[in-house]
Amino acid sequence: MKKIRLITFDLDDTLWDNVPTIKKAEVDTRKWIEEKVGEVEWGDFNDFISLREELIEDDPVIEWDISKLRKEIFRKKLAHVNPSSLRNKIVEEAFNIFIKKRHEIKLFDGVEEALEILSKKYSLGVLTNGNADIYKFPIGKYFKFSISALEAKNSKPNRAHFDMAIKEMNNVVFDEILHIGDHQINDILFAYNLGIDALWFNNSNTEWTQDFKKPQEFSSWELLPKIIENKYE
Ligand SMILES: [Mg+2]
Repeated sequence: MKKIRLITFDLDDTLWDNVPTIKKAEVDTRKWIEEKVGEVEWGDFNDFISLREELIEDDPVIEWDISKLRKEIFRKKLAHVNPSSLRNKIVEEAFNIFIKKRHEIKLFDGVEEALEILSKKYSLGVLTNGNADIYKFPIGKYFKFSISALEAKNSKPNRAHFDMAIKEMNNVVFDEILHIGDHQINDILFAYNLGIDALWFNNSNTEWTQDFKKPQEFSSWELLPKIIENKYE
């Protein structure tokens, strides 16, 4: 039986439902900005995508520094606010509001209990493309390390997060890692590319659309410790 020593976790949409959190953080932050400067033309999703490409061209780190991306988008949308010192002040304050609200999450049922059980038998780590900080939550105490795209200077499914993870741990090899996440590419292909075992968190009956074998999936955190026990212990 394969021996696992390190379990790595995605955060957004794996430990909590991220969509309502981000939506609310965005709406509330925009509202705060508009109270300061009047109505702002925020644009739709396509505007966001082209603006993002434009910003990455000017500054490639924006590809993986999503906090900087958000600030630069605010700055572009507030181009009419002068002087620029006022604009920059509003951008910084708006980002602080956003990031605070971005941490107003509700863990999926069973997350805390599962992490407590697993942390007694395995080292646990976080590998995220997002900018949520696990150490802002009580469950942060279960994790030995946390690596974001900002720290990896790259995004999943590229391998940088895993390369950093094995540096964090003494003598752990890829074959001793289990990765758990919701995203078919950014989590499951990410692990598959390095021969790392994965479990797919699929709580919405999503169809598997990749051209490699689907790993074992689970829909409830309450089942996770038992699944891992049956597979590896
Ligand atoms: Mg995710």
